[in-house]
Amino acid sequence: MTYTKRFDGREFDETRKIEAKVGVVPNADGSAYFAFGETKAIAAVYGPRIFHPQHLKNPQKGVLRCFYDMMSFSVTERKRPGPARRSSEISLVTSQSLMPVVQLDNFPNSVIDVYILILQADASTRCAGINAASMALAHAGIPMTGLVSSVSVGNIGGSIAVDLSKEEEDYEEDGKKFATDTAMAFLPNGNVSLLQLDGKTSPEMLKKAIEAGRKTCLKITEIQKKALKALESK
Ligand code: ADP
Repeated sequence: MTYTKRFDGREFDETRKIEAKVGVVPNADGSAYFAFGETKAIAAVYGPRIFHPQHLKNPQKGVLRCFYDMMSFSVTERKRPGPARRSSEISLVTSQSLMPVVQLDNFPNSVIDVYILILQADASTRCAGINAASMALAHAGIPMTGLVSSVSVGNIGGSIAVDLSKEEEDYEEDGKKFATDTAMAFLPNGNVSLLQLDGKTSPEMLKKAIEAGRKTCLKITEIQKKALKALESK
């Protein structure tokens, strides 16, 4: 174990400062903002509405579509605008991680669109985006069995750390990358709805990472709920 003190002084089971707020895009049916430190995401939900094009409609149930992207100014080197493989992949896994809680049977022939934009990126953007999207769907009044919560967990220099920053994702030892980034999301019953592993780790360390992520997501869910309740009481 070589990474014994985190770059920003956090405990290994501590996230960066979380900010969560709903109702940030008044024109949307539901919206939310979620930040892990300098990673800042906004999500806006439109729908349920009639699905165009017609041939993609599902007469049995509604369709949930997520569109993830990073603003050009979200990273120090300008990010090229427009669709890319990375954003298509993240859009897909985001939809799949949220799908189990959204009661799409209520909305045949309809679509629910979720737009996720990263305002500023310092790693774990897909996790911040999922947290924002889950809150925005609830804010839009879409029937859900609960909230989905997401966090990244890493094996950094042999230590399990939650909510990785870019500096940690890029951790090196003897000039070689020694960081495993695992993005995960959990359903209200504790089941996993997203698990993506970037790098190498052992089955034991992966198990430990999942447990750390599950524990952290319980706390994140409470923060998401608190933000939703704060709006209700206004
Ligand atoms: P995630 O943001 O979910 O961790 P990745 O592992 O693909 O997803 O990205 C890690 C981080 O790398 C991002 O959060 C961001 O800080 C940085 N990054 C991603 N794409 C770009 C890009 N096009 N230009 C500069 N930095 C980027």
